[in-house]
Amino acid sequence: MNKKILVLAKLCKGDLSPFDGCALECALSLENTSVAVLAMAPPQMEESLASLTRLGAKAILLADPCFAGSDTIATSRILAKAISLLSPDLIFAGRESMDGNTAQVPLMLSELTGYSLFQKAMSFDGERFTNRNGDETDLRSKQIITFEKFRLLRPPSIFSKKGEVEKIDNKILGLPPSEIGLLGSPTRVIVTHSNTNNRRLCRFIDYDELDHAIEEGLSKTIGAAPSNARKGPLVHYVGRLADVASCYGEETKEIDLQGLRNTEEIASKIKAIGPKLLLWEECDFIKEIASRVASVLGQGLCADCTSVAYDGEKYVLTRPALGGDILADIVCISDIAMATMKAKASQGPDIAISIGRGALPHLDKVRLLAKRLNAPIYCSRPLTDNGEFPYSSQVGLTGISIAPKVAISIGCSGAIQHIVGIERAGTIIAINIDGKAKTFDYADYGIVMDAKDL
Ligand SMILES: Cc1cc2nc3c(=O)[nH]c(=O)nc-3n(C[C@H](O)[C@H](O)[C@H](O)COP(=O)(O)OP(=O)(O)OC[C@H]3O[C@@H](n4cnc5c(N)ncnc54)[C@H](O)[C@@H]3O)c2cc1C
Repeated sequence: MNKKILVLAKLCKGDLSPFDGCALECALSLENTSVAVLAMAPPQMEESLASLTRLGAKAILLADPCFAGSDTIATSRILAKAISLLSPDLIFAGRESMDGNTAQVPLMLSELTGYSLFQKAMSFDGERFTNRNGDETDLRSKQIITFEKFRLLRPPSIFSKKGEVEKIDNKILGLPPSEIGLLGSPTRVIVTHSNTNNRRLCRFIDYDELDHAIEEGLSKTIGAAPSNARKGPLVHYVGRLADVASCYGEETKEIDLQGLRNTEEIASKIKAIGPKLLLWEECDFIKEIASRVASVLGQGLCADCTSVAYDGEKYVLTRPALGGDILADIVCISDIAMATMKAKASQGPDIAISIGRGALPHLDKVRLLAKRLNAPIYCSRPLTDNGEFPYSSQVGLTGISIAPKVAISIGCSGAIQHIVGIERAGTIIAINIDGKAKTFDYADYGIVMDAKDL
């Protein structure tokens, strides 16, 4: 029987993200399936969506002025309603969008639609998907599968013709205005600003001074990162966030989810406790629970939060936006403000090396340096995305945090999503070929050089 696959696509400036592109490519590669692409986007995106019909997919545009301003919860409600009308067998979606990057929508959709969830497929052999934890799933129905980028979307054939785009608006969905758009969105971006947190005063040195800088770093005592932000009275948390929560609350309390069997039970426990600020540890498992709970309770959830400030009445949650070039301050207008945050790193090795794309061609040199310093090698996300390094080596917002006495960052641009994973290092030494790279803003020592000369 023909399987109906619905591919969710977030069009960013008219383009599909590479994650959504991979999802669509996998769907198109299957025989005996009908593939439809569903995009919630302004009407101007119709043309971009129509071009996907040349690949043999049906295109459906979810557009209505009342959808504008929807955050992840409101978006998930709209998509969930459309999904219930379209009733696909399988839903494919990129792991995150290229603009919001919250990665929450598929998780919330799983809760709202009842489809099971398989996260972050890394490979597909035509029958089975495998993710980076080694988990597998097949093509059984009623699943949402999210995709990393491991396949490129095919180009359309020159003989193909553009088809029509089906349109769905809120007259068809019939959702109450209070549940969608800005009105139905519990999170609000109040301001965006440039990222000045965690900056260090960089002293530029020559490569032959590296050992001296390391020695200085090893002799320093590392203190807890100071937080100037005003603390709230009581902060609740789930997961290994005791240290983090204590930076933001005079008092902290863990919410223990042991023994609770499903989202309803977790949600009702949280509702009964009634926290003002609830922090969830940023990891696949807890993030999924947080997203499910947020969608059931309709409470705001800020993804990948990097700091919290209390202004005497409400909590302001800060997260990287637009790829990390800026930070967005977000407030939740719901009763509970919720955020996912990374757990603090444990002390770890004395010296650690973190490499980025710029160091990859010179891995042999990096390995020699690592051996000499007896330092483990960690990496930035593009290196795990490409399968060069295991996920367990990825440092940053969506990887691990490390807190060595000395971190040597080589060939990393200094994206905030990477920096948050090494910011607890006592001393940071950055090596980059580009003297203007952002990485130097977050380093104590900077060495401008080509990694090939290590
Ligand atoms: C939601 C989200 C979560 C993310 N999570 C993470 C995360 O957990 N960890 C993470 O790392 N990233 C994460 N990212 C990605 C992050 O935004 C950056 O894209 C990524 O960190 C960039 O990696 P990079 O510095 O290795 O590569 P690039 O940005 O490509 O930078 C390469 C650098 O190498 C330098 N270079 C080039 N050649 C040489 C040479 N020969 N010698 C020396 N230097 C050289 C260049 O000047 C450049 O500065 C996330 C992004 C998003 C949106």
